[in-house]
Amino acid sequence: MTLQTELLPILFVPDPRLRAKARPVAPDDQRIADLSARMLATMYKAPGIGLAAPQVGEMLRLVVLDLHENDVPAPMVLVNPQVIASTDELAAREEGCLSLPGQFAEVTRPARVKVRYQDLTGARKEIEGDGLLAACLQHEIDHLDGVLFVDHISPLKRNMLLRKLAKELKLKAQEKA
Ligand code: ZN
Repeated sequence: MTLQTELLPILFVPDPRLRAKARPVAPDDQRIADLSARMLATMYKAPGIGLAAPQVGEMLRLVVLDLHENDVPAPMVLVNPQVIASTDELAAREEGCLSLPGQFAEVTRPARVKVRYQDLTGARKEIEGDGLLAACLQHEIDHLDGVLFVDHISPLKRNMLLRKLAKELKLKAQEKA
């Protein structure tokens, strides 16, 4: 029998918590282990490939990821992650976000990054990557500082996308009512 993990509600833009700075956390806190398990379950259900704690209203520097490459589950929990090196070379890729459902835009970021973080035992780790992993790491770490992928696109495109999102969320709310 598997234990049912309680899912967390995902916040949508313009919730102000998505624009706030998250605080560092103690990795060995049991609460962090519980929260990351719930965040992973919430991310899989959505479905998504990354989720940062502020997206579920927890203002903590905690990120979960699973790129699910080759259809093999590979959950990762990153506590207090920070980008410690990035290439001058840039790469563009289409991004979306569970906090801006249904919205996508091409975002340009450093092509390769190195990230330092702690695991749930507090051990210091590093991960380095390019492609989808680099984009996902940067996108999720941005969330810990209140930065969204739309901040990396032109103001014109950003406003269009945010207006479209507001309209779609309003429609959804009306359908529910
Ligand atoms: Zn996001």
